[in-house]
Amino acid sequence: MSKRDYYDVLGVDKGASKEEIKRAYRKLAKKYHPDQNKEADAADKFKEAKEAYETLSDQQKRAQYDQFGHAGPQGQGFGGFGGGAQDFGGFGDIFDMFFGGGGRTRDPNAPQQGADLQYTMVLNFEEAIFGKETDIKIPKEETCDTCSGSGAKPGTSAETCSHCTGTGQLNQEQNTPFGRVVNRRVCHYCNGTGKIIPEKCNTCGGTGTVKKNKNIHINIPAGIDEGQQIRVSGKGEPGKNGGPAGDLFVLIKIRPHDFFEREEDHIFCELPLTFTQAALGDELEVPTVHGKVKLKIPAGTQSGKTFRLKGKGVPNVRGRGQGDQHIRVKVMTPTQLTEKQKELLREFNEIGGNDSTDEQDGNIFQKFKKAFKGE
Ligand SMILES: [Zn+2]
Ligand SMILES: [Zn+2]
Repeated sequence: MSKRDYYDVLGVDKGASKEEIKRAYRKLAKKYHPDQNKEADAADKFKEAKEAYETLSDQQKRAQYDQFGHAGPQGQGFGGFGGGAQDFGGFGDIFDMFFGGGGRTRDPNAPQQGADLQYTMVLNFEEAIFGKETDIKIPKEETCDTCSGSGAKPGTSAETCSHCTGTGQLNQEQNTPFGRVVNRRVCHYCNGTGKIIPEKCNTCGGTGTVKKNKNIHINIPAGIDEGQQIRVSGKGEPGKNGGPAGDLFVLIKIRPHDFFEREEDHIFCELPLTFTQAALGDELEVPTVHGKVKLKIPAGTQSGKTFRLKGKGVPNVRGRGQGDQHIRVKVMTPTQLTEKQKELLREFNEIGGNDSTDEQDGNIFQKFKKAFKGE
């Protein structure tokens, strides 16, 4: 595959100035940068533009390229070395300028949004179901009243840092075997803020913020569930340079209940019944989070049977209806029987009392007997 002409790659003519080449490359690098452009050939185009720029931006290499074409640099024996040199030298520098290298070039004087805060709130079972309004106290940074956030003593003001001219960054040049390296680092005179405060505010010590215990009113909606978050807009840390405050996120945890379990909008519980209650039927009151409810247990109820109390669950947190309560029966086998009780049970057994006649339940005892006696 033949290589495209470097001038064609960048779309400039042979007499293009250094500035024109730089501008052309900048445009292509932005267009084809793999972080921005997801087209299949973007990475190749990006590489091609980079290679062209590396050669044409270097006066010596450009002269050789003009004279010898693509064969030139390799023919001169520094092909393998060339790429490396550019990565450490001019190219690294220009690359940082375009893409910021992860925010390092951010203007320290630009408005910045304050950090979000997270608060964990533990609710009991019923509180989560019915919701509640409450005040929480959280320690958070507040704009200092004394200096209105400038960090400077009243009557004085912050000055632009003369070392970094307010950018918050210092360039450090270094010569290496690969060429000149430009390192950009946080200005240590102003700690990257771009400002020097000659007379610091006594209240906040120059930070512009003070930590205060702040009361915040929280409205917990009925039906909130474990792990959900309530966002309280603008109640996070204050912003910098006039930027907006962050948000407060209240993460909900729910204490387990002794008797009830919750699954989304439904409540589950187990109801122990004596085997006489289960066999003869009963009517009893069962607890729900909405108060006691009468439940009729039909005669011959089996262990594991579930009754549903419609609408006795959790109101949906988004207002979409109401869950149910599900009651699962657990028939308790009697223990510690008296002699008299044992006698009665033996008599009960002898008259065939253990043979279920309920056809709907499939008569499991009969099936079991058949299976093991080979009937
Ligand atoms: Zn202050
Ligand atoms: Zn500085």
